Amino acid sequence: PAPARRIDGKSFAERLRERVASAAARLEADHGVKPGLAVVIVGEDPASQIYVRNKGEQTVAAGMRSDTHRLAETTTQDELLGLIARLNADRGIHGVLVQMPLPAHIDSAAVLDAIDPDKDVDGFHVVNAGRLAVGLPGLVPCTPQGSILLLKDALGDLSGLHAVVVGRSNIVGKPMAQLLLAENCTVTIAHSRTRDLAAVCRQADILVAAVGRPEMIRGDWIKPGATIIDVGINRVPSSDPAKAAEGRTRVVGDVAFKEAEAVAGAITPVPGGVGPMTIACLLANTYVAACRAAGVEPER
Ligand code: NDP
Repeated sequence: PAPARRIDGKSFAERLRERVASAAARLEADHGVKPGLAVVIVGEDPASQIYVRNKGEQTVAAGMRSDTHRLAETTTQDELLGLIARLNADRGIHGVLVQMPLPAHIDSAAVLDAIDPDKDVDGFHVVNAGRLAVGLPGLVPCTPQGSILLLKDALGDLSGLHAVVVGRSNIVGKPMAQLLLAENCTVTIAHSRTRDLAAVCRQADILVAAVGRPEMIRGDWIKPGATIIDVGINRVPSSDPAKAAEGRTRVVGDVAFKEAEAVAGAITPVPGGVGPMTIACLLANTYVAACRAAGVEPER
């Protein structure tokens, strides 16, 4: 059989960002509202610094307002909560995102809880988790939202398909399962206590891997023709021993790509699959939050 079709998340995300940018421009022209995203980072974690810079640049590129608040590692929880209260009250800001992880002396749950749910563009607030669970409009976590967009683009109607989600985190696995259920999939959620994970995965028409273990899902776990969404982002030593000795790394997913490609019908590569969709969906959420604040129906 022919190798799986590669699902190009990079170009899909680029088109999505363009669509959001033009919708945002129309919102500003017609209603005088420029969507604004505030990103808060505490401390110097290098990976977080890169994520935050990318978010800021892409927000500006989409014609939206971007405010980045860089706080010292020593910032107290009260100081951070004070800033969130000011951003919640700021009518020019429609999205508030606090970059995780936070320093250990700050209670992350209390911080997420303090964000106005209508500005919670990460979709992590319990109110948004609840809205998603009961089918009310809210703000949907970006990575699962991006994964669903790729799936619908690849497969069209998802009704009746058996989706297996490996991973049950609040930011990826659980909301992913909710979204698949809303698309009328039959959904199985697997995790570290699942018995015979390989056999469970083999039932999947749609297999979503959100585990955080490099290349854990093997080719013979995959049903021929299945669609694979690999959410994993794992840094491993370079495959070239000389480069690995220099400490060089590469990024792989939770799925053994080469093996999977020979069996699956379609698959997201890592990098270039789900990853780029996350920021594009963050921009889409910021636009939607701005529309709702202005009482305007968002463009689809
Ligand atoms: P978490 O560590 O929060 O969750 C991992 C999940 O995988 C848990 O539910 C855990 O089960 C399950 N798990 C762990 N080991 C096994 C195993 N051996 N067999 C079956 N299940 C297992 O991770 P996240 O959900 O935050 O992220 C998952 C991956 O996605 C990571 O690689 C992360 O880097 C990536 N990611 C990518 C994003 C993007 O594309 N932009 C955004 C967010 C994450 P249990 O609950 O039982 O412990």
